Amino acid sequence: MIPAQFDYAAPTSVEEALALLAEHGDEAKVIAGGQSLLPVLRMRLNAPGIVVDLGRIEGLSGVRDDGDVLTVGAMTTHAEMLGNPLVAEHAALVTKAVHHLADAQIRHRGTFGGALAHADPAGDMGAPALALDAEFVIAGQSGVRTVPASDFFVDLFETAIGEDELLVGVRLPKHTGWGAHYEKFVRVAHQWPIVAVAATVKAEGGTITEARVGLTNMGSTPLRATAVEQALTGQPATEETVRAAAASAADGTAPPSDLNGDSDYRRHLATVLTRRAVLAAAGG
Ligand SMILES: Cc1cc2nc3c(=O)[nH]c(=O)nc-3n(C[C@H](O)[C@H](O)[C@H](O)COP(=O)(O)OP(=O)(O)OC[C@H]3O[C@@H](n4cnc5c(N)ncnc54)[C@H](O)[C@@H]3O)c2cc1C
Repeated sequence: MIPAQFDYAAPTSVEEALALLAEHGDEAKVIAGGQSLLPVLRMRLNAPGIVVDLGRIEGLSGVRDDGDVLTVGAMTTHAEMLGNPLVAEHAALVTKAVHHLADAQIRHRGTFGGALAHADPAGDMGAPALALDAEFVIAGQSGVRTVPASDFFVDLFETAIGEDELLVGVRLPKHTGWGAHYEKFVRVAHQWPIVAVAATVKAEGGTITEARVGLTNMGSTPLRATAVEQALTGQPATEETVRAAAASAADGTAPPSDLNGDSDYRRHLATVLTRRAVLAAAGG
């Protein structure tokens, strides 16, 4: 289907983009890589009066080493994330997850910030960002604020970004030396997960000293499997202990039921995928 008619603006600075958002209110829609927005417009699920393209704003992409954190520009593409050595070294969980996101064409256009701002509960970037305790840098006309991942994802397709604000960057605390794995369960290749688990662990001498586990598509937002994290801490990274800890992966979740599987099936999947993800993370 062809999208409804809209005006188009391509600002060259964040300030100019914010002024356009303030001027047009809920008539304006931001476009980054367009890999989620364009299908929405084509299906006429949204019909903005003006589309504000972030593609010509300099300085919104790239990965910067800021000491204890990596700062990722919102317009950094999935393909750039996949090939970035800083991300691979200090936030390997993102590298592992982005490898499974869609296909090469979509990774070439789609952006890290766009995927997180879209807040699809089945999106592959949310759970790793949550597990790594990412911080979201959000710009508005009154200044810049930072929101922790635990407050960023509000509901289905809803984040802490206000209508007149822009996500400009994401700060990823370094997890250097941590093992990481993203276990994604799909029916067909290059699709959103039925369930996926993002796990990163710090292990010393075969013992897990710290663990972070994020769940994809187990509720209306990405979730942390905190019971699993606690159960793993201080335990040997053996099949038996990881299996026991992973048994509580679905605690406190509210997975959807749809044509790909009902909620009980997803709860079961979460335990199986958590076991696999943690064992792989601990082994690598
Ligand atoms: C066939 C297909 C398969 C896919 N498979 C997967 C998959 O397996 N896993 C997965 O996670 N995703 C998948 N996607 C989605 C893809 O990852 C998108 O790249 C991503 O969701 C959105 O990034 P984008 O830059 O294209 O954002 P856009 O589509 O441009 O924008 C998405 C939304 O975020 C808002 N937005 C974008 N940037 C900002 C910003 N800086 N500040 C404020 N708001 C902003 C837009 O207004 C819009 O509402 C798939 C897409 C397609 C078409």
